[in-house]
Amino acid sequence: MAKIELNRNPFIENALKSRYPQLAVFIVMLVGYIFAILAGLIGTPVGSHNFSIVFVWIAWWAVLILVAVPFFGRGWCAVCPIPLPGEWLQRGAMLAPPNKRPKWLNLRVPKMFRNIWLQNISFLLLALFSSVLLTTPNITSIVLAAMLFAAIGLSTIFERRAFCRYLCPVGGFIGLYSQTAPIELRIRDKQACVKCEGKPCYNGSEVGYGCPWDVFPGGLTKNTYCGLCMECIRTCPHDNIAVNLRPFSADLAKPTTRMDEAFKSFIMLGSAMIYAGVLLGPWGMLKDAAYNVGSNSWFVYAGVFLAIIFGVLPGLFSLGIYQRQNNIAFKQRFASLSTALIPLGMMFWVAFSLSFVLTNASYILTALSDPLGLGWNLFSTANTAWQPMLTSILAPAQTLALVGGLIWSARTAQKAANESWTSSMPVIVYCFLLTSVMLWLLL
Ligand code: SF4
Ligand code: SF4
Ligand code: SF4
Repeated sequence: MAKIELNRNPFIENALKSRYPQLAVFIVMLVGYIFAILAGLIGTPVGSHNFSIVFVWIAWWAVLILVAVPFFGRGWCAVCPIPLPGEWLQRGAMLAPPNKRPKWLNLRVPKMFRNIWLQNISFLLLALFSSVLLTTPNITSIVLAAMLFAAIGLSTIFERRAFCRYLCPVGGFIGLYSQTAPIELRIRDKQACVKCEGKPCYNGSEVGYGCPWDVFPGGLTKNTYCGLCMECIRTCPHDNIAVNLRPFSADLAKPTTRMDEAFKSFIMLGSAMIYAGVLLGPWGMLKDAAYNVGSNSWFVYAGVFLAIIFGVLPGLFSLGIYQRQNNIAFKQRFASLSTALIPLGMMFWVAFSLSFVLTNASYILTALSDPLGLGWNLFSTANTAWQPMLTSILAPAQTLALVGGLIWSARTAQKAANESWTSSMPVIVYCFLLTSVMLWLLL
């Protein structure tokens, strides 16, 4: 399939160039975000009746993992409210650049942090505490507020969006899976960039800001670190930026060479499997261990969680791909072949989230009418009885997602193996075994 340049359409081009449509969405999102923080603090402590739990962990999560990431990649980051207050403060403006910019420290993030290890750690921290996070409104509020304030703090110390690029626990996995999405932002003509003076898409100009994600759009070959903020469409004086519709997983043809990105795949794959076991499985002891944060059993659970992610999964993978006679260094093969786990991991999350979301979706109607659990009935849906939705299609949909993910990963493994002069078979067998475990856990 050839790429289709969406912003050749004048309506789309104008909508992306103007700051107002995006600002309108941003403000709605920011109001919703602040309301979620307040609801968690002042509303009912019953998670299933509090807006903060229901709208963040059920409604937003469903949209993010089932629609936004698979089809729009970093589409959520394009409208996410978390970096906004910090960015407005950093820029001294809400729209176009002001005449005089505030004097913040504007430091460059130290080189040792310019990778996604901090994002891996922040995600793991949330994952380890997720059982309380997903059920306790005030803990959700604290985490949401902490992310907002961390983004503000980092904006006053470092240049651009340091929080998004290096710390956000959500941004790390969105970036990983955005490589599979059928949408991308790329330049139209390389030569135009070579001749372009001042590179305003990166350095900024009087009409717009340099890339907030510290990316040079002229060199983009993957979606991972482009936050789809659309700023470069506004700053490029040569109309050289295109938003393209493209085949799914186009970026995976270029396997990663980075260990931080490779481990992100294992973290996501392992977390989906552990969540499926803890939240949906029949093992009461496992649930108790995960929920009793701080207890001895929780420490055992946390240790096993980390051992699976950093030991068992990458260890088995390494055993499979280890070969004595291969001119490509093991580390490089490990990183490159881990690219095959990206579609599998995303489909594990889709399959897990279908269960979680369809089981709990009826709470959305309740929380819509009574967001704080105070007995309101704003839209006459407050007394909707809890019932799982679309139960008859759940198992077939999950099987389809998992088997589809396996086939997708097998095809990706073949391409990555060709690049590494090795066989794809061990990776395909590895993916098959993990998919079998996930099918057993979910069905
Ligand atoms: S990286 Fe995180 S904070 Fe930044 S825009 Fe994306 S989801 Fe929001
Ligand atoms: S401003 Fe436009 S033409 Fe210049 S380097 Fe950036 S994308 Fe290329
Ligand atoms: S400025 Fe362009 S390249 Fe940079 S994050 Fe925004 S959309 Fe992506």
